[in-house]
Amino acid sequence: MKILVTAGPTREFLDPVRFLSNPSTGKMGYAVARAARRRGHHVVLVSGPTHVVPPKGVQTVRVLSAQEMFREVRRRVRGCDGVVMTAAVSDYQPRHRAAQKLKKAGKKRWRLELQATPDILAHLGRHKGNRWLVGFAAETQNLVSNARKKLVAKNLDWIVANDVRQPGAGFGSDTNRVVVLNKKGNIFKLPKMSKLQLARWLLGKVEQDL
Ligand code: C5P
Repeated sequence: MKILVTAGPTREFLDPVRFLSNPSTGKMGYAVARAARRRGHHVVLVSGPTHVVPPKGVQTVRVLSAQEMFREVRRRVRGCDGVVMTAAVSDYQPRHRAAQKLKKAGKKRWRLELQATPDILAHLGRHKGNRWLVGFAAETQNLVSNARKKLVAKNLDWIVANDVRQPGAGFGSDTNRVVVLNKKGNIFKLPKMSKLQLARWLLGKVEQDL
C-alpha cells in the first residue's frame, strides 16, 4: 500500500522568533513510518519539526505550521491507500503574524488573538474516498468516550487514544499505553509497549481489516 503518515508538533508563529507549539517529539509517527516501510509499504512522512532521524526508504516532507501541514497532506494524499495522523497539530494559530519581532514596550499585559487552524484529519474524513484513516487522540480525561466521539466526528476507521497523564505514555517517551477503538465498535486496551511495537500492532490490525 501507499501510506501517508504525519508526525510531530506544529509551530504557529506570532512573530519571526516566537511560536505556539506542544511537546510532541514525533517518535510515534516515525515509528509508524518505520514499521510500515519494513512491512513493504510505500511511505510518505509529513513531519513537523523534530530531531528524530527519518527511517530509510521513507519519503520525508518537512513542515512547520498546521497550514503548511494541511497543504502538504492535501497535495500528497492523492494515490494513497491510507493515512495515519499522529501529528500533534496545533488547534489554533495567532490571528496575525508580525513581520518584525514584537517589543515589550512597557506593556504589562497584552492579548493574543487566536484563530482555528484547519482540522486536517476531519478534512480527510470528509473527502475519504476509498482510503482508510487512523487518528490519534491525546486525552487527559474520559479517554474512551472522547476517543469514540472523535472517531465518529472525523469519520475514522481507527483511533488510538492515550492518556497523556500516565507515566510511560504520550509525548516524548519511547513507550506508549493506549486504548484503540475501531468503527465496528471493538475496543482494545493494550499494555504498555514501545512505540515501534504499537506501530506494528496497529498496522497488523489495519491490514487484517482490509
Ligand atoms: O480533535 P483532536 O485534535 O484531539 O484530534 C486528534 C487527531 O486529529 C489527531 O490524529 C491529529 O493528528 C488530528 N488533527 C488534525 N488537524 C488538527 C487537529 C488535530 O489533523 N488541526
